[in-house]
Amino acid sequence: MTTAQKQLQVSDEVAIQINKMNKWYGAFHVLRDIDLTVYRGERIVIAGPSGSGKSTLIRCINALEEHQEGSIEVDGTLLSSDLKNIDTIRSEVGMCFQHFNLFPHLTILENCMLAPVWVRKIPQKEARETAMHFLEKVKIPDQADKYPGQLSGGQQQRVAIARSLCMKPRIMLFDEPTSALDPEMIKEVLDTMVELAEEGMTMICVTHEMGFARKVANRVIFMDAGQIVEQNEPGEFFDNPQSERTKLFLSQIL
Ligand code: ADP
Ligand code: MG
Repeated sequence: MTTAQKQLQVSDEVAIQINKMNKWYGAFHVLRDIDLTVYRGERIVIAGPSGSGKSTLIRCINALEEHQEGSIEVDGTLLSSDLKNIDTIRSEVGMCFQHFNLFPHLTILENCMLAPVWVRKIPQKEARETAMHFLEKVKIPDQADKYPGQLSGGQQQRVAIARSLCMKPRIMLFDEPTSALDPEMIKEVLDTMVELAEEGMTMICVTHEMGFARKVANRVIFMDAGQIVEQNEPGEFFDNPQSERTKLFLSQIL
């Protein structure tokens, strides 16, 4: 993808708007004055050292964690304590985490059909077709009738991604989706994410896969100590980092 193509795919419609957001875990100030506007079609990679608040930020966007100050708006819905708003936002936003627990007593296919059928009220037949489509996309349609415990960790993670996609989310959040996978599986998962990006999915990915960031992201955000320290398009971010903290981080990982 060229820079021009990347630009073309980003709309001026706002998908996520975060203003002056602060979060504490007890007395610990974990996120500080986060301001972030994500436009539809953006592929954002969040990088930063361990403990910098990347996961917490991702989890706040989906109301898995509560923030205490400032605002988060997803698709125009304000994230508040109103459960209806939280439901609306969660139905728009898919998530893939490093360790995503599948339901052990359901088959792979049933795992993928559960939420579409019970939450989205999609007919069984259509939900089954969608599930098989995404299981093919992550290259494990042959595992459909097995149970999670019969699959490798890497295969289970690909199921988790397929299961998220079955809800047809407008935004996908990834939190180190490939960190627990062996190299062969990393490539397959990243390939799936590249396809998603090319289809125009709005994505925020916490990842250490800097090759992926260069290839797919239109913006890389660097976090440290609960703050967004720096952000830029990947070429500039990697080749011309501005802050000392970013330079230090890049020198350690590249
Ligand atoms: P990252 O994903 O960048 O590694 P996290 O968002 O997981 O960072 O964590 C940021 C900081 O918040 C870390 O210091 C971590 O120990 C702390 N933290 C994370 N979750 C909790 C929690 N549930 N309670 C208290 N502190 C937490
Ligand atoms: Mg994390």
